[in-house]
Amino acid sequence: MSEAVAERFEELYGTGPEGVWAAPGRVNLIGEHTDYNDGFVMPFALPHTAVAAVSRRTDGVLRLHSADVEGGVVELRLDDLTPGTDRNWTAYPAGVVWALREAGHPVTGADVHLASTVPTGAGLSSSAALEVVVALALDDLYELGLQRWQLARLCQRAENVYVGAPTGIMDQTASACCEDGHALFLDTRDLSQQQIPFDLAASGLRLLVVDTRVKHSHSEGEYGKRRAGCEKGAALLGVDALRDVPHGELDAALARLGDEEEVVRLVRHIVTENERVERVVALLRAGEIRAIGPVLVEGHASLRDDFRISCPELDLAVDTALAAGALGARMTGGGFGGSAIALVEAADVDTVTKALQEAFAAAGFTAPRLFEAVPAPGARRLNRASSSA
Ligand code: ADP
Ligand code: MG
Repeated sequence: MSEAVAERFEELYGTGPEGVWAAPGRVNLIGEHTDYNDGFVMPFALPHTAVAAVSRRTDGVLRLHSADVEGGVVELRLDDLTPGTDRNWTAYPAGVVWALREAGHPVTGADVHLASTVPTGAGLSSSAALEVVVALALDDLYELGLQRWQLARLCQRAENVYVGAPTGIMDQTASACCEDGHALFLDTRDLSQQQIPFDLAASGLRLLVVDTRVKHSHSEGEYGKRRAGCEKGAALLGVDALRDVPHGELDAALARLGDEEEVVRLVRHIVTENERVERVVALLRAGEIRAIGPVLVEGHASLRDDFRISCPELDLAVDTALAAGALGARMTGGGFGGSAIALVEAADVDTVTKALQEAFAAAGFTAPRLFEAVPAPGARRLNRASSSA
């Protein structure tokens, strides 16, 4: 895809790009809604990427174009970039430029052409892929020397402040830091990370992603409520973040919350979810991939019953996959739509796929988009292609 993106860049801007970069979407294997509680997450990168052809400019102008959006080149002046003013897709790349400049990095302009294979709005982080690919390109071209985790932080700032979407740090870190064949065990408190081997194929396994293609409209408001509820729980328990409640002290902590029923449920999810991430890490390290199946199922139940962010489409995906023989399944991502994952024996992929298609049709739901996810590399430079730069 990199040649096509470079060629299109040349058509749009008159000369070839200085380079072409890629950054992936991600699925989260386990560790949901823990990233704004200073907790653990475990995403891996998808083979689906946002690809950007980019050249520098020296005149304070940012030109943006996406192959995936109607409309031509959008031209912005760097001095005019203002958080919260852009409701279009351009806010993601412009927000990255804004965040870099605001942090004092000498970015003087860019021409950007983007094309992405990450499904949008499916809970697979097409937005982070877009941010990270632009950040990495500018870091390379302007020789900023930023570490991957620093790029992720700047991209999170772009999304939180410039775009105005409250998100944790997982998506951007996954896109920036994941490695081929591995899941990323990330401590979102200090961004320390470990690459955990996750070679599904070698174990005769597949991971199916079930994109339900629904996104229920109340999802953003509900995300805010969950965040606020978690903060309330931490305050009531006198800790900085729910991460600080040890799993072994959960019952005592819940008892202290008394009749704060909703907070009890939220706290229970976060504390048990962190423990589930640690359990999955231990199992993968021991080479026991199949044994993570039941942990995924526990995670789904906790998101459905305690955190209450599932929906009929996600529950149907999980229940159907399990009934058709999946070793484990759970919703993944923010909830209220988006995607579920199912861990499946290679020999059972067709059976599970068919069962999912039939169940969604029988329920009158939109047909899901199904694909197999293989842990893929994180953000990277694809080439130095340039016909004239
Ligand atoms: P997710 O990150 O789960 O896919 P978001 O709502 O966070 O969902 O981000 C989706 C938004 O990202 C899109 O609405 C669009 O504004 C932007 N986006 C993603 N991919 C592209 C693309 N290829 N071209 C332009 N904008 C994109
Ligand atoms: Mg997103």
